[in-house]
Amino acid sequence: MFYEGKAKKLYSTSDPDLVIAYFKDDATAFNGKKRDTIEDKGVVNNRMSELFFTLLEKNGVNTHFVRRLNDREMLCKRLHIIPVETVVRNLVAGSMAKRLGRKEGEPLPHPIVEYYYKSDPLDDPMILGEHAIAFGWATAAELKQIDAMALKVDGLLSKFLDERGVLLVDFKLEFGRYHGEVLLGDEICPDTCRFWDKATRQKLDKDRFRHDLGGVEEAYHEMLRRVEN
Ligand code: C5P
Repeated sequence: MFYEGKAKKLYSTSDPDLVIAYFKDDATAFNGKKRDTIEDKGVVNNRMSELFFTLLEKNGVNTHFVRRLNDREMLCKRLHIIPVETVVRNLVAGSMAKRLGRKEGEPLPHPIVEYYYKSDPLDDPMILGEHAIAFGWATAAELKQIDAMALKVDGLLSKFLDERGVLLVDFKLEFGRYHGEVLLGDEICPDTCRFWDKATRQKLDKDRFRHDLGGVEEAYHEMLRRVEN
């Protein structure tokens, strides 16, 4: 093991270009201030990420995904992670609702892409693309590519989920460099996305854990059931 994050552990392999991601059940929110475990979360997130990465690869989005090894492990390309989290929003929710005093659920006229600086001591502050370029976190060309990839992911996942009765409210992506190419990394799952049932607007994601809404495990399994169909 060479790295342990909040939700995953990373192991090196005999191939310096490949790593194994191990998906834990540990859940944190509010930058680690709230902690617990969600039973089988690692299994659900590993499987759901496999499904989404496979869908994206099929549609021309390059990702770090190689293959799922077992219930909790995924073989991935080793990325030099760009320390910028990219959030795409289709509806107002979470920090956007709070910061701008808007009602949760308000539709946005077009998807909005935001950047956050990946820093635990600073609580991942929102930044402009210019900050990322000025401080050398990403080049202008990389940001352009990240933007285009993020919007493509939004289009593909929104359509796929809509057909399964799910609204893709917002989500966070991470990107990294791999032999001069920008690849989509990390995971795509109920920890990193907001999913609402289209008919009832019931939350089917980590907000159930963040705000003690109950039915956390059930929501994760329900989302996996929908994307597997
Ligand atoms: O909290 P906020 O509204 O900014 O989150 C936007 C989206 O990004 C949500 O889907 C949330 O789950 C995700 N996110 C994340 N990791 C973070 C911050 C946000 O996955 N560190």
